[in-house]
Amino acid sequence: MSSRRRFLALAGAASLSQLVGLPELRAAEYDLLIKGGRVIDPARKIDGVADVAIVGGKIAALRRGMSESSAAEMIDASGKLVVPGLIDIHTHAVREKDDAALCLADGVTSLVDAGSRGSDRIDEAVEVARSAPNRMRLLINISKTGNDQQNGELNDITKVDVVATRKAIERHRDFIAGIKVRLSDFVAGKNDLAALKLAQSVAAPLGMPIMIHMGQSITPLPNLLAVLKRGDIVSHTYSPPPHGIFDDAGRLLPAVLDARKRGIWFDVGNGLNKHITWDVAERATKAGFWPDTISTDWVPMGRDDQIFNIGTVLSKFLLLGMPLTRVIACATANAARAMPTFKGLGTLAVGAPADVTVLELQEGRFEFVDNEHMPRTGTQKLVKVGVVRAGKHVI
Ligand SMILES: [Zn+2]
Repeated sequence: MSSRRRFLALAGAASLSQLVGLPELRAAEYDLLIKGGRVIDPARKIDGVADVAIVGGKIAALRRGMSESSAAEMIDASGKLVVPGLIDIHTHAVREKDDAALCLADGVTSLVDAGSRGSDRIDEAVEVARSAPNRMRLLINISKTGNDQQNGELNDITKVDVVATRKAIERHRDFIAGIKVRLSDFVAGKNDLAALKLAQSVAAPLGMPIMIHMGQSITPLPNLLAVLKRGDIVSHTYSPPPHGIFDDAGRLLPAVLDARKRGIWFDVGNGLNKHITWDVAERATKAGFWPDTISTDWVPMGRDDQIFNIGTVLSKFLLLGMPLTRVIACATANAARAMPTFKGLGTLAVGAPADVTVLELQEGRFEFVDNEHMPRTGTQKLVKVGVVRAGKHVI
């Protein structure tokens, strides 16, 4: 009889330690307890002080007043926010092997590289994603070259290789979560609409989302939105003109409101250049056009400029007047809905993967900048203090 089976056979009569004369060594019920924080789980409309217990890499319990001795390790989160592991649906963290770890250190437990690579180098990108310490998925660029900052990857339409893109997706269905198309003038020139239609010809039959990079396109935005289907994502929603979300008179385009009604998501994608200005973001949010998801469009350079980290980008929307729970939803529940590959994430529901970010909501005077380096002062800032990934306290 194996020792485990012998133990189980004896367990009904007396504990093993009593039988062998050892002091009582009761194994902890949970691996980790995150205690006393303000838990915000927008997917389930939870906002209140509670403890989060984790076992075997999953959320095991969420309630008040759990005993410290019930867990092998405890994180004291009193005075802090405990939220589902943050999800960043637009980054460029696949280019260097260590980039994903930098995002994890910022509190991002799941992330998407949005189009850095096309079919030419997708195998290499998948290897990087596979070895990332967080959950990294990819949007394959419809241009086989991936993002090309020098020449613009769609200025030559022959760089769209539909067959190679389909084959890449077939090979890596577990890592490729959708297709990215950048549509600005410098990227696509007059090919914007044609490239988008080709991307949709691949994405739609597979039921995959497309993410477009909008702003400064040659084709007007309504004509681009017309190609999008339910579940597709518009990134850089608050791009300055030409061809942003407003008409020349400063009114939200009816096609934008209609797209939202059709189930198209509007994402932030902070980035570094011509993707967000205070002027556009403020005008839109004052008109009630808030983002569905808040992503960073992270690049390593952004760590010292404009983006810094996801907490900083989220805080810009606190500055603009978005309620805290809605801001958190934009990088948790909503992000998981917008990116089907992340289904089941973005929540602290019992049984969900135990990805948790602990944040501090600091009060004071904090300067934030837009893509034109215009400063604005906010009074609150979200700062990461702890990260749990797959049940392990990693930061
Ligand atoms: Zn981007």
